[in-house]
Amino acid sequence: MENKFIKIECGSCKKTMTVFERASTKEINCNSCNERIAISTGGKIKLINSKLIN
Ligand SMILES: [Zn+2]
Repeated sequence: MENKFIKIECGSCKKTMTVFERASTKEINCNSCNERIAISTGGKIKLINSKLIN
């Protein structure tokens, strides 16, 4: 199964970070402000308080 990197921007501190599109961890927190920015739904992650950057 392909696991791509995606870039997301934290909705709180606007820091950009790179995460796996399919995360093995349940929750992904911002590296900078520790805000929860995504959750794993078993497949692709679901963005919370963050947005995808191209
Ligand atoms: Zn943040």
